[in-house]
Amino acid sequence: MPTGGENAHGMGRMDVVLDPGLLVARDAAALGPAQREAAMARLRGSTPDEPLDLLVVGGGVVGCGAALDAAARGLRVGLVEAGDLAIGTSSRSSRLAHGGLRYLEQGEFALVHEALTERGLLLDRLAPHLVRPVPFLFPVTGGVERSYAGVGVQLYDMLSRVGAYGGTMPRPRTLSRAAVHGLAPGLRVEATAGAVRFHDAQIDDARHTVALARTAAQRGAAVATGVRVVGLLRVPEPPDGPAADHHGGLHLPGHPPGGQHGEHHHHGSRQADQGAERTPLRVAGAVLRDEGTGTQFVAHARVVLSAAGVWTDDLLAMATGEPPAGTVRRSKGVHLVIPRRAFRSTTAVIARTPHSVLFLLPWSEHWLVGSTDTDDNGPRETPGVDLADVDYLLGQANRWLTRPLVLDDVVGVYAGLRPLLSAGQGETTKLSREHAVMSPVPGFVAIAGGKYTTYRAMARDAVDEVAEQLPAPVAECSTDEIPLVGADGYRAQWAGRVRRAEAAGLEVGKVERLLRRHGDRTEGVLELVAADPRLAEPLHRDGRVIRAEAIIAARDEGARSLADILIRRTRLAVQTRDRALSAAQDTAELVAPILGWDQARIAAETDALLAAQPAVPTAVR
Ligand SMILES: Cc1cc2nc3c(=O)[nH]c(=O)nc-3n(C[C@H](O)[C@H](O)[C@H](O)COP(=O)(O)OP(=O)(O)OC[C@H]3O[C@@H](n4cnc5c(N)ncnc54)[C@H](O)[C@@H]3O)c2cc1C
Repeated sequence: MPTGGENAHGMGRMDVVLDPGLLVARDAAALGPAQREAAMARLRGSTPDEPLDLLVVGGGVVGCGAALDAAARGLRVGLVEAGDLAIGTSSRSSRLAHGGLRYLEQGEFALVHEALTERGLLLDRLAPHLVRPVPFLFPVTGGVERSYAGVGVQLYDMLSRVGAYGGTMPRPRTLSRAAVHGLAPGLRVEATAGAVRFHDAQIDDARHTVALARTAAQRGAAVATGVRVVGLLRVPEPPDGPAADHHGGLHLPGHPPGGQHGEHHHHGSRQADQGAERTPLRVAGAVLRDEGTGTQFVAHARVVLSAAGVWTDDLLAMATGEPPAGTVRRSKGVHLVIPRRAFRSTTAVIARTPHSVLFLLPWSEHWLVGSTDTDDNGPRETPGVDLADVDYLLGQANRWLTRPLVLDDVVGVYAGLRPLLSAGQGETTKLSREHAVMSPVPGFVAIAGGKYTTYRAMARDAVDEVAEQLPAPVAECSTDEIPLVGADGYRAQWAGRVRRAEAAGLEVGKVERLLRRHGDRTEGVLELVAADPRLAEPLHRDGRVIRAEAIIAARDEGARSLADILIRRTRLAVQTRDRALSAAQDTAELVAPILGWDQARIAAETDALLAAQPAVPTAVR
């Protein structure tokens, strides 16, 4: 298994030759090429007589959460994702597991409470390795605002304690200008009358979504990425079928319960009989296309659940045979990545903007500056970032900073599309972050809206609706008790990290960073390092990810492309000015034996990486 000699930093690495056994997953929770084959075989093997109970469409946080929820209830579950896990909105958020202070102002107490409860669960039980508390300053400009903000933050804190699962944070405090200066010398205190200090939580969104998918797979879900739903299988509803009492629970304006089905959009082998417009139809599966080979096949399922984020209307149209109805509105949000040294502060900052809020969030050796919130009708796969977005964010940040940020400070950018429930034409900042479960056609359920933080509640509500449509009783949701892959032994390993680092011959900081990304699966990374110490070297000169992590991404974490590894599993392409181009060849050669790539494929993968990751826009000079 030779990997190329000269590494792209010109460091001239020697070939890494690993024992073939180390290139094959040995973990029931691993997502790799062999597991994908097995998942595809199970999807293909479903029949009208032996269907899956549930086919989930979409490998974002909500779909992966639903697959885990359903698998844990003992259902036979498949999940298909057109691209990579978290390739849509779920890798493009502000990465806060939060209630959302600003939603309090909009009077959304129930939503904020639910999200804060989820925050506690994530921190304490579900994913302590991927979620951590972060201190915030909320600068205020006058005495009145200070009292107002103080009361708001106190309420936020109170809501986080009511019926909490844990994960309680230090109490909020109101700080003087001098105290603010001590914590964040880079904040322009003259612009403030002090600040309110409180705590919230950060979550590694893309890695958390992958952990959900792995946990679902461990519990029996057939998870296949690179598989797109291109049509739904619609069959005549049996008069006394399991869904005869289907209640058509559609809770959104503009979608009458039950929907109308009938005329066109029939796909698959058991098509409804043309001309039988009046026959009620049900969804009985989906036509799937393997995006790698172009092959199509049908997966039969008692219920299909759409968790397709900003693509929800496409799935609704396939299910009802009617044109997309505008159920979901897209709001674009852009983030900038800037080096830590560009802003001196020991805490995150949330500040008001004319329409919303601005975040300055510590992330590894960087700050994330976000976000915008604008209506969007551009391409959904690759939402772009233009100079106006960057200027806006720099301008808003500079209202608060002693050393103004400039375009040259920006090392990376990313944009995501919020899938918001549509409610007319108003500003997207004012649209609710509530979610809705719809079932316009028997055998088909869609879930949309919500926030990253509330994915578990969304998944629960969606699978509850799915259960209503299944012939046999289904167990209750239990995902509040299921730690995700990496969580179980994390605390013990964290406690023993100094000794572990010594044993591995690594700096403690390196092991700490691994633990915070891989949790108790850090052992798997260290096993590779023990086999070849050169795998402990950084993958990119400007990042702290080590080479072994590329192998883990392809072997255990479902990565199938260079973009999957460098954008979502490691974020190197988002956090380096060259979009990780200088790490591309080395990364590709490390994973080539696992993914079966040749040199031609490696070149194509590099092009695809650059197409997927937007460059920092440059000013016209
Ligand atoms: C800028 C920004 C900041 C945010 N910040 C936060 C935050 O700090 N905290 C928070 O709680 N929330 C935040 N959110 C919201 C949160 O990110 C989203 O609510 C959440 O990620 C949506 O997840 P999802 O699973 O519904 O959608 P997605 O992650 O988009 O998943 C949908 C998936 O469906 C797949 N798909 C679509 N069609 C098909 C098909 N036909 N076949 C197969 N697969 C298909 C897509 O490829 C996609 O991967 C933010 C959002 C944005 C945009």
